[in-house]
Amino acid sequence: MRCTKCGRRAVINLRAHRLALCERHFVERFLEVVERAIRRYSLMSRSSRVLVAVSGGKDSLALWDALTELGYRADGLYIDLGIRRQNYSRISKEKAEAFAEQRGLRLRVFNLKEEHGFAVPELRRGSREVCSVCGIVKRHVMNRVALEGSYHVLATGHNLDDEASVLLSNLLRWNLELLARQGPRAEAWHPKLLPKVKPLCLLTEKETATYALVRGIDYVYELECPFSAGATSIAMKEALNRIEEHSPGTKLYFYTQFLRHRTAFAGERPSAEAVECKNCGLPASGEVCSFCRLLLKSRLRGEKGDN
Ligand code: SF4
Ligand SMILES: [Zn+2]
Ligand SMILES: [Zn+2]
Repeated sequence: MRCTKCGRRAVINLRAHRLALCERHFVERFLEVVERAIRRYSLMSRSSRVLVAVSGGKDSLALWDALTELGYRADGLYIDLGIRRQNYSRISKEKAEAFAEQRGLRLRVFNLKEEHGFAVPELRRGSREVCSVCGIVKRHVMNRVALEGSYHVLATGHNLDDEASVLLSNLLRWNLELLARQGPRAEAWHPKLLPKVKPLCLLTEKETATYALVRGIDYVYELECPFSAGATSIAMKEALNRIEEHSPGTKLYFYTQFLRHRTAFAGERPSAEAVECKNCGLPASGEVCSFCRLLLKSRLRGEKGDN
């Protein structure tokens, strides 16, 4: 397979775009698409101070690399969730640290257990799944670190496959509230919240993996978070991949057309009230935010969970 642009050996075949690209032209295009998403969806400006949430996986490290290549001022944040099974947290942290060190970038590390006395698996109780607890923790910590560090925007490595699978899941359940909220930029609804952006939203998982490979990024390759097995998003991704195989380009069309028409769901957004958690001072939907509620409950129980 040869590069459509220069005839050199191609590293990727993008059937959705009828393009085969060599290393150089693929990297060029990847960066162009990131920049296009940033401009089209007003994700950030040239002067923005960006905090990239890095997990040690391909998407977040590819995003950090791409933003840096494009000249954005981006630091990284690694949240050590304390997942000890298969040494997941230790290995992913090492990857994030090595990446930052090799490129002379600033990585902030937040260790949940050291800061609050509990790792994510120890905060789970009852019917709450680990991933739902983990989501609450990550949202809280990302926002807090970004706020304290005076960043303007928080960036995550969600790619097109992630976004399209969430969209499909929300549509299958006709979850109008979540549909109204979905998109590449989530606005801050309180002065103590930061906007969250997804600059990789127009690039597939295959493209971010190829970018990471071509750019020599060493990421957590074979190791998935042990709690990710059986997640609904995996079933949604598999379904979308089958459709994409049959009709290349469907994923991108599905997502971008949703973004064009999503104002149709705008009325479903609940009006957010500006309440501050009486424990940590960050925005909350009640007196105490969900993160502090998790901690308080775990302290009251005074026992450790399965890690
Ligand atoms: S799979 Fe679940 S527990 Fe693991 S990092 Fe993701 S959200 Fe957290
Ligand atoms: Zn080429
Ligand atoms: Zn709180």
